[in-house]
Amino acid sequence: MSDNQAILDVILENIRDAVVLTDGERRLLRVNKAFEALTGHTAAHLLDRSGEDAGAAHDQLLRAMTVNDGGRWQGAIRCADGADRLFDVTVSAVNGTAAFPTHYLGLLRHSSGEESRRFGHDDLTGLPNRDIFADRVDQAVLQVNRSGGSVALLLMGLDRFTMVNDALGHGAGDRLLIEVARRLRHNIRETDTAVRLEGDRFALVMSIAGTDDSVIVAEKMLKAVREPFAIDGQEVVVTFSIGIAIYPQDAASGVALVKQAENALHHAKVSGRNQYQFFSKDMNRKARLRLDLEARLRRALANEEFAVYYQPKVRAADNRIVGAEALVRWLDPEKGMVSPGEFIPVAEETGLIEPIGSWVLRRSCQQTKAWQDLGLHRVKVSVNVSARQFRSRTLVDTVVGILEETGLDPRWLELEITESMLMNDVEAAVRKMTALRELGLGLSIDDFGTGYSSLSYLGRFPITTLKIDRAFIADVDSNPKTAEIARAIIGLSRGLNLEVVAEGAEVEDHVTFLRDNGCDTVQGYYYSRPVPADQFERMLTEGVVRHL
Ligand code: C2E
Ligand code: MG
Ligand code: MG
Repeated sequence: MSDNQAILDVILENIRDAVVLTDGERRLLRVNKAFEALTGHTAAHLLDRSGEDAGAAHDQLLRAMTVNDGGRWQGAIRCADGADRLFDVTVSAVNGTAAFPTHYLGLLRHSSGEESRRFGHDDLTGLPNRDIFADRVDQAVLQVNRSGGSVALLLMGLDRFTMVNDALGHGAGDRLLIEVARRLRHNIRETDTAVRLEGDRFALVMSIAGTDDSVIVAEKMLKAVREPFAIDGQEVVVTFSIGIAIYPQDAASGVALVKQAENALHHAKVSGRNQYQFFSKDMNRKARLRLDLEARLRRALANEEFAVYYQPKVRAADNRIVGAEALVRWLDPEKGMVSPGEFIPVAEETGLIEPIGSWVLRRSCQQTKAWQDLGLHRVKVSVNVSARQFRSRTLVDTVVGILEETGLDPRWLELEITESMLMNDVEAAVRKMTALRELGLGLSIDDFGTGYSSLSYLGRFPITTLKIDRAFIADVDSNPKTAEIARAIIGLSRGLNLEVVAEGAEVEDHVTFLRDNGCDTVQGYYYSRPVPADQFERMLTEGVVRHL
């Protein structure tokens, strides 16, 4: 028996055919070396189902092995590079002396290129092929017609691919295309479709909420491909040219959309490659503005062109300042003051929000501590935290570091976050908030009432303050329904034993309403606009504000 086992091992590991072996219950027992070479999965990964790709391949294999003795299964199996490739599996039962099979043996073979094509997959890269492409475009268009939104079609061509092919040979060219496909797959969402059209042409079909989304993806694609590839021990650098068209903005049908994206791609190629071009001139202009803004933001960070302004939070009963919201301002030497509404979204997408946010936090803590050291009236400072900052794994460490460095007592610091940041992953949000609260600082929900959070969650979040969105304050004096909502939020925060702050109080009627309804702390133009540090320092010297 052990002799047989040894013989079997040698055979399995040395034959060129890829082999899968299961027991009589069709539980996976082993795969051989040829199988690893063919699919990229090692036996260990497959058996442990480690990772998404190995898990998928494991399940697909077991499905393949359920055909009868002598039967043949054809279907896609997920390879280790994430691509679905078409395989034939021929299954034989091993009966031995038993009545029922004790094992099943599967022989795995790549389906022919012709079969793969019919199946809708590109044999080389494992991406969907041209046949599926038209169908995906049509589906996306139908989906938009039914439920709104837009479709972005990105057509992408590798620049100078023929040069790589000529210099290094077709084998190297093929390996490059496989690597490009892998990077594409890693940079798109589950719901997007990446396609290999032919040669060095790829396409991406995606549904988007706003046209800005396509800019973000196009930039991601350019960047993903620009990183050098290691092909046959050589470093190969290639770039993409990308043409973008958007349905329904640029075209009235799927076919027309493809045509416009082709026009845009042509335009990108002749305008110098390594870039994307939109079909519409207006989008090109917007994309350029955005790129320009990003470059200026990077410079602004290096040159410290930011400032923190402070807006008082006032106790309505006696006009005493109880806190300040720190609001970032960008003093661009060319364009003057740029409002955060304009640059925070771009900073968020590009990741610049992390260094900018840390800078604002550090400056606000430093400043607040300096005012305390001057013996001025003590107030709490509230700093806004964006979605990306909140998700960042380093947020807690950053806050700890800044508190240590500036020596500010954490009870004088509050972070403002918005509802929408909390709802994706409630568990993770609660963990992070708890860690922050354990440092001794306060947590406020900003713009409360505008999100779609379920009230039932509110009690689970370890927050200290609710901040009523200014949309509700704006017409409390004229709209009875809004007034009722504002009253309800105030009541809710009482019930949950939270502080409540109203933002955007602009006129005396707002303040009167809030005071009469039990909202003690008020922020808004009625008392003061956000002001530079030196002006706020003068306010602190008095400790109270009168409205302007
Ligand atoms: P927010 O946190 O809700 O800040 C309140 C905004 O309302 C501020 O706009 C403030 O100037 C404005 N405001 C205050 N009182 C009134 C009023 O009586 N009437 C009206 N109409 N507006 C009032 P700002 O400074 O332009 O900031 C806009 C948003 O940008 C902020 O909304 C916040 O979400 C974000 N932001 C500002 N600074 C930072 C920052 O340092 N980091 C991050 N991540 N976001 C920031
Ligand atoms: Mg805020
Ligand atoms: Mg707000």
